[in-house]
Amino acid sequence: MKCMKCGKPAYKSTTTEAIEMGFGLLIIRNIPCYKCDECDEIFYTGDVALKVEHITEMVKSLMQELTIIDYEKAA
Ligand SMILES: [Zn+2]
Repeated sequence: MKCMKCGKPAYKSTTTEAIEMGFGLLIIRNIPCYKCDECDEIFYTGDVALKVEHITEMVKSLMQELTIIDYEKAA
């Protein structure tokens, strides 16, 4: 996997994403991602991007001011 920004090799990692939902903040932890060694750019595979989108949709209905989800447990 290569960095989409600078083309340098990226390695497997996990990240935490905070998504502003307008009425609250959604935090998803342990999201599998690729991280660039060179510029610290983080990107997801298609599968993971879809899953994150799915979690976002799911959480909309039960959203509180602050929701923290563990990707591993939601997957
Ligand atoms: Zn890069």
